[in-house]
Amino acid sequence: MRTLRLGMTGTDVMEIQAMLLKTGYNPGAVDGIFGQETQDAVIRFQKANGLNPDGIIGPATYAAMMPYLLGYTVYTIKDGDTFYNIARRYQTNLTLLIMANPDVNPNNLQIGQQINVPFRFNVVDTNIDYTYEVLQRDIEGLKVRYPFLETGSAGKSVVGRDLTYIRLGKGPNQVFYNGSHHSLEWITSPLLMKFVEEFSRAYSTGETLSYGYNPQNIWNSSSIYIIPMVNPDGIELVLNGLSPDNPNYSDLILWNNGSTDFSTVWQANNHGVDLNHNYNAAWQLSKDAEEQYGITGPGPTRYGGTAPESEPESKAVADFTRAHNFRLVLAYHSQGELIFWDFMNLVPPEGRAIGEQFQRASGYTLAETEGIASYAGYKDWFIQDYRRPGYTMEVGKGKNPLPISQFDQIYSDNLEVLLLGSII
Ligand SMILES: [Zn+2]
Repeated sequence: MRTLRLGMTGTDVMEIQAMLLKTGYNPGAVDGIFGQETQDAVIRFQKANGLNPDGIIGPATYAAMMPYLLGYTVYTIKDGDTFYNIARRYQTNLTLLIMANPDVNPNNLQIGQQINVPFRFNVVDTNIDYTYEVLQRDIEGLKVRYPFLETGSAGKSVVGRDLTYIRLGKGPNQVFYNGSHHSLEWITSPLLMKFVEEFSRAYSTGETLSYGYNPQNIWNSSSIYIIPMVNPDGIELVLNGLSPDNPNYSDLILWNNGSTDFSTVWQANNHGVDLNHNYNAAWQLSKDAEEQYGITGPGPTRYGGTAPESEPESKAVADFTRAHNFRLVLAYHSQGELIFWDFMNLVPPEGRAIGEQFQRASGYTLAETEGIASYAGYKDWFIQDYRRPGYTMEVGKGKNPLPISQFDQIYSDNLEVLLLGSII
């Protein structure tokens, strides 16, 4: 963590602004720019937490902010404490407090015992640039609130970032949702993470989800596996830029046509391979089409690599798929408000019928791919190898990367698809 002060900019500034906003220290616009209002908010936070109010986020202030970034704090039980009083003091939900401490008996609290206290606000921010670091922190925070969540690593990216998966449910009907094969389409990562949070909360508290879906029933009948960020290295390039210690530093500049600005063009992984052109489904056709798109080697988009699954990210996702028995998959991309549902007429008849239900639930349009986009994608490979329904969901409308201001619309369009997909 670098020291943050007035005048600095970045995704780290933005994450802290979002935290200050939701904890009641209004930092002004959540825009990644450490301006005067943000400095004033930091000073108020420092005063409230007994810190030197210098408006600079150094190690001590950052440490004090960490519980709020994670969404919970560790509390040591004192004489006379009850869960009810602790929940009231932290203005949090009693049921969530109980759920976050499954090994603690609320009727037999021990002085000196440590418990996790989830704050009342949500963990997953949907108003910020969603970096790999934010994702990892959100997963860590959600696991404390919802200890029943199963998480693990499906593999590593080129640079060594974890391809984390989350499992919702314990039932036999397995489905798989993934996001951000393409780095400019990172808005699909908070989409899936918001779903994880909302589903987990409803499952813990016994609330009904939107559209009348019952989380307990889904939990018992299905297992929803989610890899929210397939391409963390590409997202790092888009959102945080090229780091001097990147192992492919000079190649990446060459592959990016001499530019160090990846923010509006880079869809590929850290090898300049487009992961959604790297699966073993008419891969050679994708390869043959590269020339007419002006693709001659690694680059920002559409280069399919030297062989199917040549990349650690696509291989990890394919291995993860082979290790399970998925009845249906959704690969989240942006943009166009479209649902791609077929691959070379290999999808079973129900593929179209389920696609129509997703169309109704989302308001998106069922469509078929054209040109180079028709080959070597994840859903193509899944349909081809398993002859089961697989979809590419193209969320939102506009030019990638879509502004995060589209998030709420995208979430409400897709929430029922995510629920329906787990039981259909
Ligand atoms: Zn895409």
